[in-house]
Amino acid sequence: MAEVKSDIEIARAASPRPIQEIGEKLAIPPESLVPFGHDKAKLSADYISSINGRPDGKLILVTAISPTPAGEGKTTTTVGLGDGLNRIGKKAAICIREPSLGPCFGMKGGAAGGGYAQVIPMEDINLHFTGDFHAITSANNLLSAMVDNHVYWGNGLEFDMRRIVWRRVMDMNDRALREIVCSLGGVSNGFPREGGFDITVASEVMAILCLATDREDLRRRLGNIVVGYRRDRSPVTAREIKADGAMTVLLDQALQPNLVQTLENNPAFIHGGPFANIAHGCNSVIATKTALKLADYVVTEAGFGADLGAEKFFDIKCRKAGLHPDAAVIVATIRAIKHHGGVAKEDLNTENLEALDKGLANLGRHLRNVAKFGVPAVVGINRFLSDTEAEIQAVKDYCAEFGVEAVLCEHWAKGSAGVEELAHKVAALADDGHAQFRTLYEDSMPLWDKLRTVCREIYGAEDAIGDKKVRQQFADYEAAGYGHFPICVAKTQYSFSTDPNLKGAPSDHVVPVREARLSAGAEFIVAICGEIMTMPGLPRTPAAEHIGLDENGEIVGLF
Ligand code: ADP
Ligand code: MG
Repeated sequence: MAEVKSDIEIARAASPRPIQEIGEKLAIPPESLVPFGHDKAKLSADYISSINGRPDGKLILVTAISPTPAGEGKTTTTVGLGDGLNRIGKKAAICIREPSLGPCFGMKGGAAGGGYAQVIPMEDINLHFTGDFHAITSANNLLSAMVDNHVYWGNGLEFDMRRIVWRRVMDMNDRALREIVCSLGGVSNGFPREGGFDITVASEVMAILCLATDREDLRRRLGNIVVGYRRDRSPVTAREIKADGAMTVLLDQALQPNLVQTLENNPAFIHGGPFANIAHGCNSVIATKTALKLADYVVTEAGFGADLGAEKFFDIKCRKAGLHPDAAVIVATIRAIKHHGGVAKEDLNTENLEALDKGLANLGRHLRNVAKFGVPAVVGINRFLSDTEAEIQAVKDYCAEFGVEAVLCEHWAKGSAGVEELAHKVAALADDGHAQFRTLYEDSMPLWDKLRTVCREIYGAEDAIGDKKVRQQFADYEAAGYGHFPICVAKTQYSFSTDPNLKGAPSDHVVPVREARLSAGAEFIVAICGEIMTMPGLPRTPAAEHIGLDENGEIVGLF
């Protein structure tokens, strides 16, 4: 077998084209690009508004079966399919999220695709990129500083000091900062209170940036953020703190989508990266909408499995932004299906048709679920070297029972040449016009019923349960005028249930809701089901221990 090159080796061997040339493929005038170096650029705000009236291209969602430690390859497939569509002569662009710094130094691995389906410059994309995350961090922390400053100078808005809910953020895994006491040290440092840090991608500012349709909408949403409550439980907003204007200024450039390229020099928009648990896990609305004006086919990715990622893409992003997806690709790997069928991680490289057959129930439920949104789907089998012909055939046969095609994809090993069949299928599916997109529930449905609908229809659960306090919280949000918001479920991505060990397609389970949180600026209600980490920690041996620069100034140990 030929030697398998690492992602970074492949990326370094690529021949990037100047970013203006990539823009040209989408007929973007060079003066409308704001270059960051030679191979990254932002699109100017004026240009984006100037193309507003154009017709939209087709929107294709890449989602996946429930994730396993074996890795599914959604980003890799999104990039590969984008290249594949270009290869067969289509004008296609991809839209993905920007990775967080946290995981880079924790667990080895980037999030810019893999093998011969990557976006470049991958080191930049995985590190500081164009500074958007720094802008989000700054905007978030400006609001924090203004809240504590407001209290320091007399607390005119009458915050209940125990109910300041706005947290500080940084883009690093640092468990030491999860819960802190701030303003210690005496009179001149303010009033001590409990606070804490989340990772930047978990900030509501990130979710807002990704859902905002323009500057005005950004400012409106930022102003609506609830930062804390008074003794009478009435909310205090960022607008009352008068932070929304300055936050908008800090975010103005970050709001513009970033253009880069794939290994095959095709256009890729990388913009925004909200967490897929307490937020909706998709790239920005602005990037997706802009790409739809510029390309005939836009391929985009949603985080986690289709129960979380696709559901939120449809019920939050598409609902809010008025997007109408035309087709979906559900990524599956033989390894992950076998894992759902009970095979341990160490044994995934051995053929096991029995376990595969069992694990296919997971894929089956995702297929049924995506159909509920009226979006036609195709399964992309992301090929790993250990997959056998019999296993691949078994997946194809299973999908055929659902009237869905399963296509073998080899973009990781071969780039666009390995994904032509999928590209043809997806283009045909999108062009057919069979999609009849609908959300799972209406805006007008009561909040608790929305949650139950997701639990029953998507997770196969018997019901959602919550103690009186949680149910009251839902009722209070309705009374406060937030009843029309969609629900954003935060639960484990490893199972349809809230137990990460329940693989396959469990039924009859109940979904316990521990807590509800209001994201008044992002405009959704988060239902927290199980333990959700908003500030990850580093592992015993963080990847950072092995990262450095070699004698040529090249990064080593990062990927
Ligand atoms: P996701 O977006 O679903 O989290 P990624 O596309 O980021 O997954 O892929 C996760 C990891 O798996 C990456 O390091 C990638 O290089 C690797 N990977 C993806 N597809 C394959 C494949 N077909 N063979 C081997 N490794 C793969
Ligand atoms: Mg990904």
